[in-house]
Amino acid sequence: MSDGGSPSALVLASRNAHKVDELRTILAGALQRCGLDLLGVDSFPGAQDVVESGVTFADNALLKARAAVEATERPAVADDSGLAVDVLGGSPGVFSARWSGVGGAGRDEANNALLLTQLADVPDEHRGAGFVCAAALVLPDGTEIVREGSVRGVLARAPQGSGGFGYDPLLMRPDGRTLAQYAPGEKHAVSHRGAAFRALAADLVRIFAPAG
Ligand code: IMP
Repeated sequence: MSDGGSPSALVLASRNAHKVDELRTILAGALQRCGLDLLGVDSFPGAQDVVESGVTFADNALLKARAAVEATERPAVADDSGLAVDVLGGSPGVFSARWSGVGGAGRDEANNALLLTQLADVPDEHRGAGFVCAAALVLPDGTEIVREGSVRGVLARAPQGSGGFGYDPLLMRPDGRTLAQYAPGEKHAVSHRGAAFRALAADLVRIFAPAG
């Protein structure tokens, strides 16, 4: 891996090492074709975290990517994602991480428990929901591109499965398993984040490896 001074660095505006690894896998082909190395923003000591004050996933993804470009003077990608429940009009949406107001350890369980309580009386046919992800690419010349991806399912009546994170134990796919019952590679293949970044991969190739 190259260091933060590499001219071929593509910055990921996240401090989550798991997310850096996941996106390196999803973007592997495009990164190789473009001669780019994906580096988490932690590789750049001056980079500050931004307040995610946007009201859409795209707003927040762009806020994070723009801040990373400003701090590093490199091209940057960022994402923002969450759960959109049909009967709640798309909520928790950008409030997904903080829906229950609980922070730190136990946050995911508290969010899931609150959502299950809110939907306790909602019949099966109205329990549709999906994860949505906006993936943004911002270049130092001001170019901005946003791609979205989603994965649909229905909300289970109790958490099922121990994989994944967040609301994964609640989102049941048409095959009867929740995303917490999917292997990581299986989840990437169908996930909102996978779809959004696979779309963005085509933009990376178009911009950084146009002859390919
Ligand atoms: P982030 O923007 O990827 O950090 O996601 C914000 C919040 O949305 C997370 O804290 C989760 O509650 C929820 N979320 C986003 N993606 C997923 C997912 O793939 N599975 C489960 N929950 C997710």
